[in-house]
Amino acid sequence: MVDIEQPKKPKTTAAGVPAVLSSFKFGFREMGPARTGKVFLKMNQDGGFDCPSCAWPDPDHKRKHAAEFCENGAKAVAWEATRKRVPRAFFAENSVEQIDAISEFDLGKLGRITEPMLLRAGATHYEPVGWDEAFQVVARHLKALPDPNDAVFYTSGRTSNEAAFLYQLFVRAYGTNNLPDCSNMCHESSGTALTRVIGSGKGAVTLEMLEESELIVVVGQNPGTNAPRMLSHLEIAKRNGGEIVSVNPLPEPGLMNFKNPQKARGWVGKGTELADQHLQIRIGGDQALFLAIGHLLLQAEADNPGTVLDKAFVEDYTSGFELYAKHNAELDWEAVELATGLQRAEIEELTQRFLKSKATVICWAMGLTQHREAVATISEIVNVLLLQGNIGKPGAGPCPVRGHSNVQGDRSMGIWEKVPDAFLDRLDNEFAFTSPRAHGIDAADTVKRLRDGSVRVFFAMGGNFASATPDTEVVHRGLRECDLTVHVSTKLNRSHTVTGREALILPTLGRTDHDHTAKGPQSVTVEDSQGAVHLSTGNLTPPAPELKSEIGIVAGIAQAVGQIPWADFADDYSLIRQRIGRVADGYENFEDRLRANEGGFLLAHAARDQRVFKTSDAKAQFSANDLSWLPTAPGKLLLQTLRSHDQFNTTIYGLEDRYRGIHGGREVIFVNPEDLAELGLNDGAYVDIVSEFQGVERRASGFRLVSYPTARGCVAAYYPETNVLMSADDLAKGSNTPVAKGLTVRLEPVAS
Ligand code: SF4
Repeated sequence: MVDIEQPKKPKTTAAGVPAVLSSFKFGFREMGPARTGKVFLKMNQDGGFDCPSCAWPDPDHKRKHAAEFCENGAKAVAWEATRKRVPRAFFAENSVEQIDAISEFDLGKLGRITEPMLLRAGATHYEPVGWDEAFQVVARHLKALPDPNDAVFYTSGRTSNEAAFLYQLFVRAYGTNNLPDCSNMCHESSGTALTRVIGSGKGAVTLEMLEESELIVVVGQNPGTNAPRMLSHLEIAKRNGGEIVSVNPLPEPGLMNFKNPQKARGWVGKGTELADQHLQIRIGGDQALFLAIGHLLLQAEADNPGTVLDKAFVEDYTSGFELYAKHNAELDWEAVELATGLQRAEIEELTQRFLKSKATVICWAMGLTQHREAVATISEIVNVLLLQGNIGKPGAGPCPVRGHSNVQGDRSMGIWEKVPDAFLDRLDNEFAFTSPRAHGIDAADTVKRLRDGSVRVFFAMGGNFASATPDTEVVHRGLRECDLTVHVSTKLNRSHTVTGREALILPTLGRTDHDHTAKGPQSVTVEDSQGAVHLSTGNLTPPAPELKSEIGIVAGIAQAVGQIPWADFADDYSLIRQRIGRVADGYENFEDRLRANEGGFLLAHAARDQRVFKTSDAKAQFSANDLSWLPTAPGKLLLQTLRSHDQFNTTIYGLEDRYRGIHGGREVIFVNPEDLAELGLNDGAYVDIVSEFQGVERRASGFRLVSYPTARGCVAAYYPETNVLMSADDLAKGSNTPVAKGLTVRLEPVAS
């Protein structure tokens, strides 16, 4: 049990001087002053590299700042561009079992991996091998499989477009669609809902549209930590007269006040107040909230016909309105107040803001997508937007904020276990082979396949599957039963110590590293959360001359698989882009458009640009969803997992969570003081967190109670430490996303 110091008072303002100091502290510690300067000045700049962290868009050329990054972006590149290296001796002196005893944080601190490492069957230690032998090990295992579907090929959202396209081509040429990716665990619910109701799984709001919005509702998202540059654009919207509302079980400083380090007021002034209203909603109460707002908007229209609904839009562009209006004519306010934990008056105040606004954007992230009813909740949000025609016009639309730098691009490149046949038809036509048509498995189904021991080869392009997934013990057991596990990585993490009988670590170039091939310097591309595609070019000498890019690794392994000019692609990435331009939807004439637009362009979005909805009936669809919420029995609480401010996904940069006052540890659980009193528990005591799902209990031991202003009945703790509490069978309806929000838990005091 980690003894964690007394937390400090949570912050009420984000960024400012502390963020600048923290950025340089990380930079100097990992890279030293000179390298820090070289890296920070090239980050998110034209001709520079794209931040490998979140997927927040870059402003266009004219509006970019010299320092176009945030504190967490600085941590991400410092983490990757560190001067530290994991020496060969480390692997010789430490068995996999000994390395497995090292914490996720400390593993990452060891530095960059510089050569392929192989754990042979029956061995206890990794040993260095050459690339050819490493590729042969993979080819040997793949060729030995009776069925290509005994292998699974995972993708992390850091993978570039070119690498992702080549990877899916290799996997399909090998014969399977088993292409789970991190999107399955984050915004799959957004993609599923939006594709059904507006005909595209991507957000329909650009930076400029956000800034000109009259009302921005931020739901289940903590931009101050997870997309910090978003605060700059919220500040612009605010200064343009817009209103901002935060809907979150936790009061997050990033939505209270923002001290913009790019402005004088961010250094000496009071900063900018952001949220005009904070709705401290109960976990799982969002669907009920938007059902109630829709109900009140319909009522307001009934009271004053022609003053609320955008009738022309509803009639011309939507379907299902009548059923929705009938379904939402009556509302059980008592259930709404229980579900949301809010007073009716708070919901009416928010609705007044909708009534006043002529252009509304609703943003969301994991706080919405990782629930059992996430798809219905996001559909409810779209219902509210459609009523007033808030899509496909300036300042309005649905805006899921993606969490990983190229997670959206990977999906566009075909990283999807159930990619549409149209994509596969174009792929087959382009490469003269027949790709498999049976859908593959996503992340949740991969966990189940690991549970029943039917995955023989697990291959991961980046990421940290062993930590990012639910039901940790089940996943670890399943991975250890694989014949082979392979990880393409830059640094060590838990997935390298939870190995198959044979295991490979294939070290790759990072975003900050330059990538020179026989054909000279190469650049890759990424697609951000608004659908803008741009080049990324590293500027640092790689940690080791023989390191290969993700593309070089795929091409090296695939050589032995099909009649595809892999070597040419590995030398000249523009050749890959030419192929992408003929296969990936929206990327037509890819290479030419990049050249014509100084290395970047915005993908078309039919719903956003033309109010063309590529749905089953070519209309934006209203949906009638029954009110759903999560009642809790006495003594039970609802848990949400979340990130600290020193974390990106499962990468732990430090043991601080400055905004929430946590220092020196991660095994903490945030509990409302009234709930502590009701449970007879005290701040500072230690508990086990016990979850219950379908009669099965799961336990996370030794967490420090932190009295914190969460919503009543709701608690919060960090992942990946609490992923052990999640069940492999607890999945969001329709999207199969593992449920990480709304776990029913109890707190068991630990004997001191
Ligand atoms: S907002 Fe996201 S993409 Fe931008 S610098 Fe920060 S972490 Fe990187």
